[in-house]
Amino acid sequence: MAYTRDRQQFGQAIADFQNTQFMLADMATDLEAARALLYLAACKVSANAPDKSRFSAMAKRLSTDAGSEVVNKALQLFGGYGYLKDYPIERFWRDLRVHSILEGTNQVMRMIVGRDLLRQ
Ligand SMILES: Cc1cc2nc3c(=O)[nH]c(=O)nc-3n(C[C@H](O)[C@H](O)[C@H](O)COP(=O)(O)OP(=O)(O)OC[C@H]3O[C@@H](n4cnc5c(N)ncnc54)[C@H](O)[C@@H]3O)c2cc1C
Repeated sequence: MAYTRDRQQFGQAIADFQNTQFMLADMATDLEAARALLYLAACKVSANAPDKSRFSAMAKRLSTDAGSEVVNKALQLFGGYGYLKDYPIERFWRDLRVHSILEGTNQVMRMIVGRDLLRQ
């Protein structure tokens, strides 16, 4: 947000473009939705709920995909600078990429969710 307020193109801050505001709105919304599901899954694990595994898999899949997508959009907002090591965004993008693989890939998370739904 600081960068979009600072970066000037076509005589105005890129934060003033409606497209930038829509991107930021979607990023914030997707992040909060993922965070809400993550906290719900954590509550289910704490309560030893019978559906804790499904909710954990749903939260892991959604939050890692949403995190990667949000950073990808942030990199896009930085334009060419996003790709360079002068700014930390490209490192965030690389760091987040592995979380769709680690601790069970997101394809495996979908298997856990799908099987649990069909067991009901
Ligand atoms: C930086 C890093 C740190 C790690 N640290 C640890 C650690 O500390 N401890 C530890 O135990 N492991 C660790 N791992 C391993 C990690 O948990 C595995 O990489 C991860 O679980 C995926 O397993 P895999 O690499 O064998 O991929 P594979 O199982 O070979 O998967 C390859 C592809 O096939 C897909 N696939 C596999 N099976 C199915 C299926 N049944 N249906 C559909 N698609 C499928 C996967 O989704 C993936 O796209 C680490 C990995 C990395 C990259």
